[in-house]
Amino acid sequence: MNNLLHHYLELKNKYRAYDTKDALKRMQTLRLAAQELTEKGYPIAFEILGSINFGIVEPSSDADCILLHKCDLHADSGECHPHCSNMIFEKEEIMRILRRKPENESFRIELLDTVNVRYIEKSIEQGVDINDERIYRFLFYRNTGRPVNRPQFIKYIRMLEENTELMRRFGDWASEALESYIHTPRHRFSFSKYNERIISRGLNLPVDLAQELKLYLEQKA
Ligand SMILES: [Zn+2]
Repeated sequence: MNNLLHHYLELKNKYRAYDTKDALKRMQTLRLAAQELTEKGYPIAFEILGSINFGIVEPSSDADCILLHKCDLHADSGECHPHCSNMIFEKEEIMRILRRKPENESFRIELLDTVNVRYIEKSIEQGVDINDERIYRFLFYRNTGRPVNRPQFIKYIRMLEENTELMRRFGDWASEALESYIHTPRHRFSFSKYNERIISRGLNLPVDLAQELKLYLEQKA
């Protein structure tokens, strides 16, 4: 694993120790939504990014999610466009399930990207193209996110991980992706928000966390 990804994961684990009640509640709601849709014959899962991923959520925070689903209509291209009927149905169902929450527990969900696991499955069967960005994105979200309904896709990750050449290429791609991410003001600002939330709970920011954060933000891929 490259350095940058390693620092990111270390940092995430340190923040996760502060997992707030709101983060856990959101995880639970998303878990129920994934289970309900899976039971209806639409197997879905999420990788959570953003504040839930770091365990530090306020009642007003959005949930930044990657949707993992299985769409036969777009199994060949791997990309489900916004008009994909499966995706539209799944999104509507997810919103409907979220709306059932009482006002004080409701939150907004932001679906940042979608991975068609059917395409991944098919690629593995037919032999993976080691330069395929759709595969890299799937691996990247698994490495950096917080999984909901993990059993739906973890076996594909395991199979891909056996391909050493693919994983080497993915490592380079992931460092570049993370490096450009580190330098975005939004990402840097997120950490100040997380730190403020910890401090506002009357806690001191641990020295090792502050050091890890400094190290991470100064990293180059
Ligand atoms: Zn589709």
